[in-house]
Amino acid sequence: MECALRIVVLKENTAARPQVQAGHGLALLVAYGQTRVLFDTGPDDTVVANARALEVPLGSLAAIVLSHGHYDHTGGLPAVLAEAGPTRVVAHPGVFDQTYAQNGREGMRYIGLPLSRDEYEARGARFELSESPLQIGEGLVTTGEVPQESSAAPTDSRLLRRGPTSVLPDSFRDDLSLLALLQACSAVITGCGHAGLLNILRQAETVAPGRPPRVVIGGLHLLATPDEEVANLAAEVYARGVRTLMPGHCTGERATKVLQARFPGEVIPISTGMQIRIDGDANHEILGP
Ligand SMILES: [Zn+2]
Ligand SMILES: [Zn+2]
Repeated sequence: MECALRIVVLKENTAARPQVQAGHGLALLVAYGQTRVLFDTGPDDTVVANARALEVPLGSLAAIVLSHGHYDHTGGLPAVLAEAGPTRVVAHPGVFDQTYAQNGREGMRYIGLPLSRDEYEARGARFELSESPLQIGEGLVTTGEVPQESSAAPTDSRLLRRGPTSVLPDSFRDDLSLLALLQACSAVITGCGHAGLLNILRQAETVAPGRPPRVVIGGLHLLATPDEEVANLAAEVYARGVRTLMPGHCTGERATKVLQARFPGEVIPISTGMQIRIDGDANHEILGP
């Protein structure tokens, strides 16, 4: 059995090779042992075109995991279901909440799941919604809902969620990450990391005791976080034992540069078409392009 974790970046804001289409969003094909999972689906059907261009089949997925409801992670779901057929779709129950972005003069824009639950089910989605951690396959488990304790959560006051009576600053209750359990550590795969990286790492330690997170891959939503806070985050994340950051998507170019300058470990920005292999000791290899 191939024991390495393999990740193919099927959608990200930048492209590592000409034959794939980059764009604002995230989709990662995660393969571990016998289990293949699509983590997020990008904003549109380009995830399927990119998968074809990279010769990554989207059939026989153990699950599609939705990190949260934002359209840039879920918009490609109908196209993926059309390609993959009926598939288990794992997410937090709050994934269907109505969420918005407040954009100055443009006002409030809906940024949640584009279709209703019924419409996805009619297209083959078999939802498994859980607030608790959920096993996806051998060695792959979601964090479930991430308790938010840290003041270093990447608060973004422009992001909103409809509550029972009004629209409020987003609590990001649906934001979950995927954990790959390596030999004596783990790899954490984030969507936008809205729950805050330190909170996510803490939850990862709770879900996988004895396997401290060593690698983090995905979006960290640091677009609105000042440089000094990003630098502090880099130091804290390293102090918790993380040695490799593979940031992408909504981490933002500026924050990525700060991480590269201030994180004492390794920082490898991801990009569409990139293929990553991580062995049981969290050593990584970039396979392509
Ligand atoms: Zn995003
Ligand atoms: Zn998001």
